[in-house]
Amino acid sequence: MSAPILQLQDVSFAYQKDPVVKQVSLNIHPGEFVGILGPNGSGKSTLLKLMGGLLKNDLGSVLFKETELAQYSRKRLAQSIAWIPQEHPMVFPFRVAEIVLMGRHPYLSPLTFETEKDFDIAGRAMEITDTTHLSGRSFNEVSGGEKQRVVIASALAQEPEIMLLDEPTSALDIKYQLEVLNILKRLNQENGMTLLLAMHDLHLASKFCQRLILINQGQIVKDGTPEEVLQKEVLEKVYDVRIKLFRDHEDGSVMISPES
Ligand code: ADP
Ligand code: MG
Repeated sequence: MSAPILQLQDVSFAYQKDPVVKQVSLNIHPGEFVGILGPNGSGKSTLLKLMGGLLKNDLGSVLFKETELAQYSRKRLAQSIAWIPQEHPMVFPFRVAEIVLMGRHPYLSPLTFETEKDFDIAGRAMEITDTTHLSGRSFNEVSGGEKQRVVIASALAQEPEIMLLDEPTSALDIKYQLEVLNILKRLNQENGMTLLLAMHDLHLASKFCQRLILINQGQIVKDGTPEEVLQKEVLEKVYDVRIKLFRDHEDGSVMISPES
């Protein structure tokens, strides 16, 4: 197997006094499509921010290509790791094309303008995400599903090696969820993009991700294939519910319903 692209070694982090990420160790390899699962407040968003260098770990190491994140400049890091937040507060009425072009910022020097190349890359990112027809629209006006695709286009314009997405489908209906997940799947399969997604929907996670990492209270409970991770007893304990779990043995995906 190739060298890991991202490594967490005994990583701990606290916002205040109590750690919310506790001694987490994991390796992500190039080309993996990984889902991070766990109850609300379990530390998914915090973990993604630590991986993207948006938060600095208190203990342990976070390595990108075997070098500590802190060793990279902000700009260099943004050229390699794209972090896509859950919320997209947008106060100014930017047009969609402008938002996508903003993804080129890590490549521009101060006081220089975008070149033909930057426009080409942004254009390609819009094609991949099927947002070209939205170019002239105001970002504030497009639908939730379109917004998410625009934000992914902007992240793609960064030409990152890894994309960290915080619940990219949680606010969307099933049609848009599938649209976004299929775009990500294509990026993974055709461009070899390494993807880490915080997710809530266990069925979709098991359907799209090759590997799942289940966390609870800031610690990894299970890390493996969907079949290994999504087990009735484990989920009942972590989510504190009684469930019925149905497994599709063809693709390993699961369906969950309340036990009643
Ligand atoms: P998840 O994304 O799995 O819902 P989070 O990473 O957002 O979990 O949160 C993990 C824990 O950290 C929770 O207990 C949450 O209340 C706390 N937390 C998150 N963000 C902050 C913050 N900015 N300041 C203080 N505590 C926070
Ligand atoms: Mg979160």
